Amino acid sequence: MYDLIIIGAGPAGITATVYAARKKMNFLVISGDIGGQAGWSGDIENYTGYQFITGPELASKFEEHMRKYGIAMKEGELVTDLKRVDDRVIIKTDKAQYESKTAIVASGKRSRELSVPGEKEFKNKGLTYCATCDGPLFAGKDVAVIGGGNSALDAVLQLIKIAHRIYLINMVSHLTGDPVMIEKVHESGIVTVMNNAKVLEITGDQMVSGIKVRFDGEDKVLSVGGIFVEIGLMPNSYFAATLDKNALGEIKVDCHNRTNIPGIFAAGDVTNVPEKQIIIAAGEGSKASLSAFKYLNQRR
Ligand SMILES: Cc1cc2nc3c(=O)[nH]c(=O)nc-3n(C[C@H](O)[C@H](O)[C@H](O)COP(=O)(O)OP(=O)(O)OC[C@H]3O[C@@H](n4cnc5c(N)ncnc54)[C@H](O)[C@@H]3O)c2cc1C
Repeated sequence: MYDLIIIGAGPAGITATVYAARKKMNFLVISGDIGGQAGWSGDIENYTGYQFITGPELASKFEEHMRKYGIAMKEGELVTDLKRVDDRVIIKTDKAQYESKTAIVASGKRSRELSVPGEKEFKNKGLTYCATCDGPLFAGKDVAVIGGGNSALDAVLQLIKIAHRIYLINMVSHLTGDPVMIEKVHESGIVTVMNNAKVLEITGDQMVSGIKVRFDGEDKVLSVGGIFVEIGLMPNSYFAATLDKNALGEIKVDCHNRTNIPGIFAAGDVTNVPEKQIIIAAGEGSKASLSAFKYLNQRR
């Protein structure tokens, strides 16, 4: 029986871990990976203390900080169920079952899918959801990025240094990301922005070779060797059926990171806290850990 189980090791979960370690709590971390979305970001220029750092570099600094405490961790394990039974929190994963007095859900978000013909067939065969992870595989190629918000712009800015030509296929009438990023995209000279465009199909043989798009009242197939889907994110809250969520599926928390179930806290992008940023997720993770610590002390 642990004092605390932390689900997720992105910025929120890792920061919760550092605080839990410093409070000498008996805890376990269960996470699909280490770094979470922070590792997918290209250039990060808004994490205080670093005027510039890449996502993978920041994620590895987070990991180094967390490992310093010699923590117990189940990496590559996914939580499938979380519930409270009497005074215990029961957590099931794809490999085992664990019990704890408290839990912090810091499972962040995952990429939203396009849901068009060809997407499933060409996943990881030229179609990807992570420019940071897979961008270098598309050196010198013509590629398409789907989306118009910060994630799509971040992908384009990374690909500008790698690809030959980029089609930015945006489903709405204008780009909605940060103006600084939009400026950089326009300045690059290799990006064709297609607003009000609809993706109809991904085409290819063994690998992606094109994308069928409805644009300017016409259906056309753009010849591309890579497709980056960046149309938003969905909260990883599917395993927490008993927790209250908002219409987006984000776990509702109060300012102490408490959910509707006593002893279960949540932090970061998986919650309804406004603004999804690394520094915010990290701050929320620290608060959640301190709240779990106080909760345990009040019951001792
Ligand atoms: C392309 C891109 C660029 C970005 N750029 C910036 C930027 O420049 N600046 C900035 O501040 N923010 C940026 N962000 C946002 C930022 O990365 C997120 O706000 C932040 O990572 C959220 O942290 P988190 O810990 O809440 O969740 P995540 O980073 O999503 O981490 C979630 C963790 O939970 C794990 N997990 C998920 N499901 C389960 C499960 N069922 N069981 C166990 N573990 C699970 C995952 O493996 C992961 O370790 C960017 C995001 C993206 C996608």
